[in-house]
Amino acid sequence: MKGFILKLQRARDEDMIVTILSPTSVKKYYRFYGARHSILQMGYLIDFEEEQDKANFLPRVRSLSHIGFPWLYDREKLMLWHQFIAIFERHFRDIESVESFYFYTLLEAAKRWEKQSPKRLIVEVAINILKYEGRLQPPSHCVICNNQIDKSIAPIQGFLPAHPECAKSPAISKKDLMNLFESGSTILLDDATIEQLYLLALKGF
Ligand SMILES: [Zn+2]
Repeated sequence: MKGFILKLQRARDEDMIVTILSPTSVKKYYRFYGARHSILQMGYLIDFEEEQDKANFLPRVRSLSHIGFPWLYDREKLMLWHQFIAIFERHFRDIESVESFYFYTLLEAAKRWEKQSPKRLIVEVAINILKYEGRLQPPSHCVICNNQIDKSIAPIQGFLPAHPECAKSPAISKKDLMNLFESGSTILLDDATIEQLYLLALKGF
């Protein structure tokens, strides 16, 4: 089974509790002496087997191998990947069963992380997930003052629509944002806008 390591927690001695996103679940596993295992790193894609614990404790991971990506050696890209993984970890807290969409979305992002701008990918993935979950609100009315939004918009957490003056954030062209919502692509947005939306995505969605 393949999965991304979303979180690592130290357990007794050098043992670790590993949270893994696979195509079907977000599950916690136990690994004896996990702290000594160099494959166990946050954000790593691993291949593993699951072994049920007889005492009904957490299942264990065995036959671990790491599926690497070239950008793992790029500090900036790795730092952004860790931020990205942390959003997923928060998104799935207290959820065990998931659709394969999330694993494959993450896998696709990992494959594109080398050649494309990670910040743009983070924004695009956030929008695609909100769309998939049916939570992407059309930018017609401001969620703060309830009035209509004309040309400028400044989305708040969850990419909810707001007026720049209500959100106290820089204005983004509504037309360009609509394009992002519809196409799922950040191509029309400049780097300053991407920075603003990327910081928004980090707050969670
Ligand atoms: Zn408003």
